Amino acid sequence: MIPSVRKYLTISLLLLFITPACGQRSQVGQSETPSPAVSQSADLDKETVIGEIGNPGVGDRYFPMLGNGGYDVTEYDLQLTWDPNLRFLSGSATIYGTSNINLLSLNLDLSGMKVLSVSMDDANLQFFVEENELTVVFPSVLIKNTDFSITVDYEGTPGLINDSLFPFEGGWFNSARGVLVAGEPSSSQAWHPVNDHPKDRAHFNISMTLPSDLSFVTNGVLVSKSSDAKSTTWEYETEHEQAPYLTTIAIGKFSQTFEQTFDEIQIRHWVEEGVQFPSQENLNLETMIIIFEELFGPYPFGDYGILAVNENLGYALETQTLSIFGKDLVGNQQIQAHELAHQWFGNFITLDDWSDIWLNEGLATYAEQLYLEKVNPNYNIDESFFEYYYSLSDQGYEFHVKPRPGDPGPTALFSSSVYIRPAMALHALRLEMGDPLFFQSLREYVRTFGGKSATPEGFIETFEDNANKDLELFFQQWLFEDQLPPR
Ligand SMILES: [Zn+2]
Repeated sequence: MIPSVRKYLTISLLLLFITPACGQRSQVGQSETPSPAVSQSADLDKETVIGEIGNPGVGDRYFPMLGNGGYDVTEYDLQLTWDPNLRFLSGSATIYGTSNINLLSLNLDLSGMKVLSVSMDDANLQFFVEENELTVVFPSVLIKNTDFSITVDYEGTPGLINDSLFPFEGGWFNSARGVLVAGEPSSSQAWHPVNDHPKDRAHFNISMTLPSDLSFVTNGVLVSKSSDAKSTTWEYETEHEQAPYLTTIAIGKFSQTFEQTFDEIQIRHWVEEGVQFPSQENLNLETMIIIFEELFGPYPFGDYGILAVNENLGYALETQTLSIFGKDLVGNQQIQAHELAHQWFGNFITLDDWSDIWLNEGLATYAEQLYLEKVNPNYNIDESFFEYYYSLSDQGYEFHVKPRPGDPGPTALFSSSVYIRPAMALHALRLEMGDPLFFQSLREYVRTFGGKSATPEGFIETFEDNANKDLELFFQQWLFEDQLPPR
């Protein structure tokens, strides 16, 4: 399904529109009394209020069905229960948000779960489900700039998200040991209704009830843990907003280990039984954070640590303040530096569109080199980049060069070129600008776009302003051509 151009309809037209179109349709009771949110429109002549159908996509170039239009979420309050024997999740998700147009209906992304009911202020709302879209219909127009909360009760066995455009499978991974939630560009819609795009970041409060022999781990701070005879309820809160795909979940035999707190940053890890976690001598995250704070500006969150799972995952993922590592990569300092750098580039500054992925991966890849340069006095970063450049040019390592990192296409989102070429571009730019101006620009980029979504234009303009130079051709050659630029 391709998101349609926003349709302007009256309420009655909307109802005509949805009635024959329902896919897997679950009708629930209508609201008896108007909710407070809707009653704000009571003074307006409803005949003249034009409402819109909230768009089922947020307008992403690569993943048109991710996210939704017409509102912003401020908070997800998720009350969950997990039965590991049946692999069955029961959920009640309250979504707090604000409309940014006059809404007749809005969409949430949800994949493979059965919706039981949707309500607003204790009144049931009409809804229908089609593929990975849950459409919620308001009894009357939800006026622009209205704060609302919608509660969705749902259940099912979560799994992987079915989307042929995704570069690799993501979602809720069940295994004999437990559960891991991971995925980019998406994982959240596999287990809760969500506005699933990094443009719309929100706070998360997550409570999970499960058998007491299992641990429940997610991002943020564990604020309470209470048990009865059989089960334990774990409750976490995020201190900062986070993009939905940066929320992870792990269920299994995990224990929390604490390291030092410095500059009000708490270092803590969640380590699964059987994982040999590196000693502080081999993985000193405090040193890494201090190095990156000097280069990029203050660490943007209150805590950081590793979710170490007892599996060879073959990847690591920068889930916010709690990066996922398998036992295969947890001791790899360079990849540790990469995921830590994403806390600034990707998490604190989010993407506006997934086609701009080089902003995340180029900066995190370059940060690996910056870390090696800082901790190893013999490391010659210029030499490394020149050797790399010539080896790519001479030997034709096409898979490092193509596709063009500035527009790799959705299924090639995480191609080698998306990491390597922007990192090389950044080093070439640093050589051209000189260290003081280059790092001043980088810190200014973080200050300007931290807590927001950035675009390539915003990134390039920040450097242009500092360099007092037009850099359009420079970035065009490094990121948008099939071949590397000449040196
Ligand atoms: Zn990365």
